[in-house]
Amino acid sequence: MTKQEDILIIGGGVIGVCAAYYLTVQGQPVTLVEKDDICAGSSYGNVGWIANGHAIPLAAPGMLTQGLKWLLDPGSPFYIKPRLDFDLIRWLWQFGAACNKKQMRRGIPTLLALSRTSTELFERLIADEGLDFGFERKGLLHLFTDRHTFEKAAEEADLLAEFGVETTVLDQTGVRQMEPNVLSAVANGIYYPDYAHLIPDKFVKEVARAAEGRGTRFSANTEVLGFETSGRRISAVVTTRGNFKPDQVVLAAGAWSSLLARNLGFRLPMQPAKGYSVTFKRPPTCPSLPLSLDKHKVAVTPMGDMLRFSSTLELVGFDDSINRRRLAATRQAAGEYLPDMTDLELLEIWRGFRPASSDGLPIIKRSNRFENLILATGHGMLGITHGPITGKLVSQIIANNPPDIDVASGRILA
Ligand SMILES: Cc1cc2nc3c(=O)[nH]c(=O)nc-3n(C[C@H](O)[C@H](O)[C@H](O)COP(=O)(O)OP(=O)(O)OC[C@H]3O[C@@H](n4cnc5c(N)ncnc54)[C@H](O)[C@@H]3O)c2cc1C
Repeated sequence: MTKQEDILIIGGGVIGVCAAYYLTVQGQPVTLVEKDDICAGSSYGNVGWIANGHAIPLAAPGMLTQGLKWLLDPGSPFYIKPRLDFDLIRWLWQFGAACNKKQMRRGIPTLLALSRTSTELFERLIADEGLDFGFERKGLLHLFTDRHTFEKAAEEADLLAEFGVETTVLDQTGVRQMEPNVLSAVANGIYYPDYAHLIPDKFVKEVARAAEGRGTRFSANTEVLGFETSGRRISAVVTTRGNFKPDQVVLAAGAWSSLLARNLGFRLPMQPAKGYSVTFKRPPTCPSLPLSLDKHKVAVTPMGDMLRFSSTLELVGFDDSINRRRLAATRQAAGEYLPDMTDLELLEIWRGFRPASSDGLPIIKRSNRFENLILATGHGMLGITHGPITGKLVSQIIANNPPDIDVASGRILA
């Protein structure tokens, strides 16, 4: 069976679903194919920060040295599985090349523009569509037990201040006034007032509902197996449910985008970066704010009637096994900052693959190789944050309008 389609989106995570929404708002006929259920990938169990102010790319000066130190610690939040994988070697090389001050300072305004505009779009989605996804704009509190890491983070806050990011540096009393539910080991904090948070799977499903209401056709359990091409065009997308013949194709398959790109004969500078989350029933001593625990880089979000922790970044390919030692380190770190963390009622342990680009910036652009292919991927640690703005940019690129933010400028990718 062959289906004639106008726009075909591959991937039913936050990026694909937001692209579907903004394209249908624009009046474009859209079909979205997803190999599993909608929101089965990285968009499901993440920690739900709208990190409006998290603007220092992962590839930053000092990251390589820090990464090497972490590699020697089996409980550390970072791990690379040693293996002969040329894509990984190439990614590490490009990542290393991006770990310099000039590149970092070039990335900050782009990441900030994306998160600021996206935060406004989350609010507009609530106002215009009446969506309910547990959105709260309360900020984020970064907590420190160690003087050295606090001083380093305060330097980062000074750097971000140059770009207009507001922060408040807090002593122990200031921290306790803002968040009484912390232990006495917490010596300092930095508050980022512009962060917000949400329940990620609820968000994706709500946007999917709104997109469907406006005419998007969703085809779950439909896996893209490959493509047929003719010159500089994709002429057909081959799936487990027949061939689609779209006018335009949006590649929004998260960490799997690089596999599909390879199928099309080009490489995306991306690696799957595995992370874990553990979700508990909300305890009586639940923190009221999202927290970042500096030790082990643990992220904490109170989400409705749940409390979720996430951590770790493992470059292990698509190996989805769960390293219980790293999970235990996450729980142990939580117990060093927060009271009563031992007898929580477990709801779910989850792992997901962040689509990590080598320079820490997302890839949102028309492909250089195929004129009817739009790339919307590589969002790394910020895909939820950048979901709505990415959807809007995709709709602008497809309409041949100048995009609000030109993420691709100066970067040669596909
Ligand atoms: C532990 C953890 C914590 C995180 N915390 C945050 C946070 O607080 N804030 C934030 O902004 N971001 C966070 N992130 C990052 C965020 O989750 C991702 O950047 C985002 O979900 C990526 O969305 P996506 O739509 O690109 O990918 P995904 O959500 O992975 O969606 C891609 C979809 O494509 C489908 N697919 C793949 N191959 C095919 C195929 N061949 N055919 C059809 N469909 C296919 C997959 O099944 C999947 O559903 C976190 C990630 C992790 C792992």
